[in-house]
Amino acid sequence: MRPTLAEYPHVHSGKVRDLYAVDDEHLLFVASDRVSAYDHVLSTPIPDKGRVLTALSVYFFDTLSAANHLAGPPDDERIPHEVLGRALVVRRLRMVPVECVVRGFLTGSGWAEYQQEGSVSGVALPPGLRENARLEPPIFTPTTKAELGEHDESISLEKVAEQVGTDLAHRLRDAALGIFRSAARHVADRGLTLVDTKFEFGLDPQGQLVLADEALTPDSSRYWPAESPGTSLDKQFVRNWLTSPESGWSKSGGTAPPALPDDVVAATRARYVQLYEQVTGLSFAAWLSLGPAS
Ligand code: ATP
Ligand code: MG
Repeated sequence: MRPTLAEYPHVHSGKVRDLYAVDDEHLLFVASDRVSAYDHVLSTPIPDKGRVLTALSVYFFDTLSAANHLAGPPDDERIPHEVLGRALVVRRLRMVPVECVVRGFLTGSGWAEYQQEGSVSGVALPPGLRENARLEPPIFTPTTKAELGEHDESISLEKVAEQVGTDLAHRLRDAALGIFRSAARHVADRGLTLVDTKFEFGLDPQGQLVLADEALTPDSSRYWPAESPGTSLDKQFVRNWLTSPESGWSKSGGTAPPALPDDVVAATRARYVQLYEQVTGLSFAAWLSLGPAS
């Protein structure tokens, strides 16, 4: 008999995930269908998004050689039936309070920062780079981990070292860059460009660095089709609609974003599913058969 979700004490809710205590060493890590954009959690969920994020994270945890926080399979008996497919049992770690961003291309907030500063998170770059330029080698551009409603700020490796110590700062950088390279090679074989991503790491009781949180999902990463650089395969669709005149909303107005129209919801869901299938070569329908009907 599987436990019900109500039997687990609730520990924390982030923008997208809800965490429950399984026991002293383990958490139930539940991905909701909530979508966040521009530091707001939108009022409209994207159906199956939590399952896509969970399925992709599991795929990468299994594929990459880095130590990760998974403590059981996606059908672990400790997972309540009601959240099967979008929940995982993970090791409870001491999280390092740094967002470990790696960029292989100059785009998004990295491009904005480069235009203003000539650098990204303190990493100096040559002048004259264009938007979407390839960064070879990829660069480590950490940010602070902001609370809900706050914006993550770029910080230099030196600042990370001040916060967590030089040794750990260098281990974070080296692990993040290594995982990025190997994931980028992997998805390149599937016709995709891994543009940038954000990892979170934790420390286990032995002090080992462990890849935690989500891994290489469309929420934490930007993917482009190999043949059309600059075309995001993630929630860019949602962002574009929110900033279009159609939404009537302004990023800087201080108000909550409006509900998403049905066609934007459907198109966003389709993108998430398509990305999962392209990255993994697996069918999302097979993953759905794990859990309760949507
Ligand atoms: P965002 O991902 O957009 O920055 P968030 O930080 O609020 O938002 P969620 O994904 O909603 O994130 O929540 C997941 C939370 O769980 C994060 O605070 C993350 O640091 C934490 N976390 C991830 N893995 C572990 C783990 N193995 N042990 C303890 N905490 C973890
Ligand atoms: Mg998160």
